[in-house]
Amino acid sequence: MSVDRFADIQVLSYSVPGFEELSLRQKQLVYYLSEAALWGRDILFDQNGSSNLPVRRLLESVYVYAAIDRTTPDFQALEVYLKRVWFSNGIHHHYSSDKFLPGFTSDYLRRCVEAVPADHLPLEGGETPDDLCRRLFPFIFVPDLLPKRVNQEDGADLVLTSAANYYFGVSQQEAETFYAAQKAAGSADEPPMYGLNSRLVKEDGIVKEQVWKIGGMYSAALEKIVYWLEKAETVAESDEQRRVIRLLVDFYRTGDLHVFDAYSIAWLKDTASKVDFVNGFIETYGDPLGLKASWESIVNFKDEAATRRTETISRHAQWFEDHSPVDSRFKKPHVKGVSAKVITAAILGGDLYPSTAIGINLPNSNWIRSVHGSKSVTIGNLTAAYNRAAKGSGFREAFIDNPDELDRIDRYADITDDLHTDLHECLGHGSGQLLPGVDPDALKAYGATIEEARADLFGLYYLPDEKLVALGLTPDGEAYKAAYYTYMMNGLMTQLVRIQPGCHIEEAHMRNRQLIARWALEQGREENIVELARRDGNTYVRIHDYPGLRKLFGRLLAEVQRIKSEGDYEAARRLVEDYGVKVDPCLHAEVLERYRALHLAPYKGFVNPRYEPVYDDGRQLVDVRLCYGEPFADQMLRYSRDYSAL
Ligand code: ZN
Repeated sequence: MSVDRFADIQVLSYSVPGFEELSLRQKQLVYYLSEAALWGRDILFDQNGSSNLPVRRLLESVYVYAAIDRTTPDFQALEVYLKRVWFSNGIHHHYSSDKFLPGFTSDYLRRCVEAVPADHLPLEGGETPDDLCRRLFPFIFVPDLLPKRVNQEDGADLVLTSAANYYFGVSQQEAETFYAAQKAAGSADEPPMYGLNSRLVKEDGIVKEQVWKIGGMYSAALEKIVYWLEKAETVAESDEQRRVIRLLVDFYRTGDLHVFDAYSIAWLKDTASKVDFVNGFIETYGDPLGLKASWESIVNFKDEAATRRTETISRHAQWFEDHSPVDSRFKKPHVKGVSAKVITAAILGGDLYPSTAIGINLPNSNWIRSVHGSKSVTIGNLTAAYNRAAKGSGFREAFIDNPDELDRIDRYADITDDLHTDLHECLGHGSGQLLPGVDPDALKAYGATIEEARADLFGLYYLPDEKLVALGLTPDGEAYKAAYYTYMMNGLMTQLVRIQPGCHIEEAHMRNRQLIARWALEQGREENIVELARRDGNTYVRIHDYPGLRKLFGRLLAEVQRIKSEGDYEAARRLVEDYGVKVDPCLHAEVLERYRALHLAPYKGFVNPRYEPVYDDGRQLVDVRLCYGEPFADQMLRYSRDYSAL
């Protein structure tokens, strides 16, 4: 399952179920859009730091062409370093943004460079190999040179001290002044996201933008992207979608952020198309000022079966509302379920590759979100790939000692985990009502945890229900036990692997899970419903009475809904503080130790599948073949060779 493992990274592959069932036209659309997705890779490398592309090319030339011994520890260290550069799209860690350092010396790399035929080295204008080393080695070997891609340290000049290539020669003060002026001069009602698609530089004492557009910065890559987008336009599924693509092309040609807003609105309104995509300058996490967006792309199509599942649930929303164990004063007389869209990713590009998100909620523009709403989807096949990876990792075996539980989890957990998420999203958050006059913000800082607990409990309460078997959503009356066991184990123990020793739980979802699990453990103690048992020095969850556990979840759901409906701040505070925040230090230390012994990689990412066009004699595209199994390094070298315009 794992394609590659190095440093703190595990690379996985994902499958694209349903691709074969697409029409030829839809396959063509996926293919053209995926080419457009791959052509943006070098933009991201350059955005992440001005030295990233030359460093990558230097390392690749050594990796491919150097006449050196490939069995030495030095070469292996070089290979790991290059893989980290590929994975992070640059020389800084993709998550922490800290510069990572190579496990070989500059002398070794110099010897490697000397062993590469000069015509394969990325030399610039009359440079010797020696000049090349002098130019690039400091970026690789000097720890203090641009140590952070994104510096957020209070008090520093965040622009000058960040390695990201979004500003050149300007200070934070100059950048802030520049954009404050743009904002003041622009529309107050519908402000575009100023600075989103440009690099800010100072030339001859003047601060100005280098706009990312055709004819501007990154033109060569954007021309390729537009070439493939225009092919996609010819096989679009509808006039609506054709307009979406046309607006995006116009945006890349003009760099006009008002056109980008028009594109975003057209995109979020197109919910009918089977094939959909994101392609553009989207997220601003890489800019310390949060203005400039990294380039990313994902191509996807609707997962009809999973979306049908959420539609079934949402069609019966009123039944679930009427039968919940909540006081009838707190129930909605007329409830509308939400039908969440589940999509299948077909290709990942730019800042979504190889490390990726498993859900999308766009656009980011605040005024568009408040006036027009947003499009929200979950990516089913990537979640499934993570689940498959977890299965083979030894994680479950390390924390579950009962073979019956393990067997049940193997058989049902994929179904029941997805189903619990669906119940949470489609019904849980939308259920219940506030009593008249209750302030929706009455629970203040505890509101988010209580809200997540409410949605989780709604799902937990209904998982064992016969109604789900009757609707064909669960295979039988046993399946829910898999979800109950993993929920309790996660809430009581295993989610603690993400908490540093000595720290409390801060994040709302994690607090809610511990709150529910700890409360059920304590309330069920007398009747011996669930316990934490010790065996050979290790702690395990034992559930002795599954129907009893459901009753407890029902009781807590009723109480949490009461707290929300009445705005009972004091009860919310007590519930969260007593059960959700504090961590048992002994159990925490034990869990961390058991987890460490498994040597699991904390970060994961993906290789893409390949789409091979099939042409007939007349050069007509007659099919697109989907291929798996490309090794990580091969894929990266191929992308560098075939999709490098900058
Ligand atoms: Zn939620």
